[in-house]
Amino acid sequence: MSEALRVTVWNEFRHERKSEAVKAVYPDGIHATIAAALGEHGFEVRTATLDEPEHGLTSEVLEATDVLIWWGHVAHGEVQDEIVERVQQRVLAGMGLVVLHSGHFSKIFKRLMGTTCDLKWREGNDRELIWVVAPGHPIAEGLGEMFMLEHEEMYGEHFDIPPPETLVFVSWFSGGEVFRSGCCYTRGAGKIFYFRPGHETLPTYHNPQVQRVIANGVRWAAPTVIERVFGNTPPHVPTEG
Ligand code: ZN
Repeated sequence: MSEALRVTVWNEFRHERKSEAVKAVYPDGIHATIAAALGEHGFEVRTATLDEPEHGLTSEVLEATDVLIWWGHVAHGEVQDEIVERVQQRVLAGMGLVVLHSGHFSKIFKRLMGTTCDLKWREGNDRELIWVVAPGHPIAEGLGEMFMLEHEEMYGEHFDIPPPETLVFVSWFSGGEVFRSGCCYTRGAGKIFYFRPGHETLPTYHNPQVQRVIANGVRWAAPTVIERVFGNTPPHVPTEG
């Protein structure tokens, strides 16, 4: 690859400023931890947060973004519809989108999925085993058959999403639940990857395997479609008469 993929890590950045427990795990914000990890994986990374003008997602920023990463939780409703529309249009035009954890309820993910994206959850002390169910898929590259997170929030089925085009991971939790935790979609020219782990009070985004999955997700979701042709068109083969 001649030029590094350009990644924008978006985070609502509210928990980290209000909760000492979250600040202790992510002192500079979840976005900073993810951005640093992706930088080490060789990407050109910038960050954007909710309270910046236009949530940090100006047209210029989005035009210069190959893959957008999304983490949100308590402030989904504060994301302006105009920005959601702008992000959706960029995805349809080919920008990749990686949606993390509680981003399942973000306006952008729900809009792109067209379903409620609701699920079961429990903030307990579950162990999570993340099983690779699509071995050989680029997002599973470098992982074994499974990896474990000692402590995570539980997300359980049913997860109200459209059937994934490719399901890469299935999670098992020590409470007995299972969950489709790595889901691939295409919408227009854009690729979307949903990845489940990442509760804000837990050090999940410091985990090298989680960082690897996000980096793999960025590479997989990177734009590939160069030109699409629509509208009234003459025949490619001359017609008789
Ligand atoms: Zn959570």
